[in-house]
Amino acid sequence: MRVSDRPADSDHTYGHGKIESFSAFVETGLLLVTSVYIIFEAFVRLLYKQVHLEPSLLVILILGLAMGIDLIRSRAARACGPRIS
Ligand SMILES: [Zn+2]
Repeated sequence: MRVSDRPADSDHTYGHGKIESFSAFVETGLLLVTSVYIIFEAFVRLLYKQVHLEPSLLVILILGLAMGIDLIRSRAARACGPRIS
């Protein structure tokens, strides 16, 4: 977002806004790869592996931390967006 807010210069006469689309494209690719991996692992576990899960407090704390970071990031991204009211 910092880059996309830069004004047009001699190298990029239409501005730098397209970097946001490219960034979204890369993020989508990462999410797609992650999703395919999770689906693959799920099928392997369902069909071929016997897995015994043990819930741990550490994992729950890490998930809570990740959710907190995502909340802060989404609010920061929202603050950068256009005002609609
Ligand atoms: Zn430029």
